[in-house]
Amino acid sequence: MDPNVVKRNDLLAQKVIKGLQSRNMTGYYVQTKEEALKLALSLIPEGSTVTMGGGMSVIEIGLVDALKNGNYNYIDREAAEDRRAAMLQAYDADFFLASSNAITDDGVLVNIDGNANRVSAIAYGPKKVLMIVGMNKVCSDVDSAMKRARNVAAPINNQRFNGNNPCTKTGACANCKSPDTICCQFLVTRYSRHQDRIHVILVNEALGF
Ligand code: SF4
Repeated sequence: MDPNVVKRNDLLAQKVIKGLQSRNMTGYYVQTKEEALKLALSLIPEGSTVTMGGGMSVIEIGLVDALKNGNYNYIDREAAEDRRAAMLQAYDADFFLASSNAITDDGVLVNIDGNANRVSAIAYGPKKVLMIVGMNKVCSDVDSAMKRARNVAAPINNQRFNGNNPCTKTGACANCKSPDTICCQFLVTRYSRHQDRIHVILVNEALGF
């Protein structure tokens, strides 16, 4: 990475961490996926019940594989016979893993969801929420974070799952109300009332989308 970009991101990350602190959330900053994995595992005690609500960034740093192969009670909703039951178990997990569709440079988290299992678990339920967020997702304010979530993250997610939505074909949001839309619920996390619940690991790499 260009040293000027690294320096810019280092300064930006410190601003985001301060913003998170002011909102009763905890931020961390690492340079690489490998460091992010190491840090995440140091925050999750062995024996914890862990689940996730989708999040390519979590997979990309190798955290899901490490948890599945380690001494953790990892609830795998993809492998569960009863997917709804697995999703409901998430609300009482020790750790819920996710990324964020966007984060503002003063620490507001913006997320969009279709089923709402992910945004609802971020809002309430699991004892702790651990987010892995690439610096590519940092935006200057809530408006631009919302635009990023609507115009970047959601269309790419639709294309991944080949949803029957306009953005699957065009790559751009058409503000649809199709039955397949994944833009049903919008969560803006402005403050966490619960001390020590939401932890965000910022990574100085492009992760997820
Ligand atoms: S509102 Fe519709 S078109 Fe826009 S990103 Fe969501 S699913 Fe795609």
